[in-house]
Amino acid sequence: MTDLKKLSAAATPGPWSYRPDKHDDWGMIRGGGMSDDHIGLVHPPVASARPVGLDYDLDEHRWAGTDPMEPNGLFIVELVNAYREGRLVERTTDAAASDSADKCTCSNCWPDYPYFRVCPDCGNKRCPKAKHHDHTCTNSNEPGQKGSNYE
Ligand SMILES: [Zn+2]
Ligand SMILES: [Zn+2]
Repeated sequence: MTDLKKLSAAATPGPWSYRPDKHDDWGMIRGGGMSDDHIGLVHPPVASARPVGLDYDLDEHRWAGTDPMEPNGLFIVELVNAYREGRLVERTTDAAASDSADKCTCSNCWPDYPYFRVCPDCGNKRCPKAKHHDHTCTNSNEPGQKGSNYE
């Protein structure tokens, strides 16, 4: 995953908001307030959301007073703000690794394991420990090992 910390530091400070100003067009995303020497506090545009799908009917949305870009805009804004407020946590590879290590993948504990099943110790599919975690790891992929899935 791209380093969110770096991306966030390089991007406009927040909080970002979706169409905060009355005159804003559809899709307008603005960053945190910045003071401008001439006009005071401004919220510069930082991004623009694209419409949902390609088959939107602009006239229909205008007529109904709805905004086809709103779901995308709100999602972008929420992700940016959530990350900066610490509500969006980046999974580290360590966490991901210890997550899958938590669950035993042997045939006994996880009969319908959806991936290629191997022994957690030696990585061999014919090792008896791939079939049951109580079996001793033979560190071998020899065919016909007693207690293995390939006896
Ligand atoms: Zn097991
Ligand atoms: Zn093994």
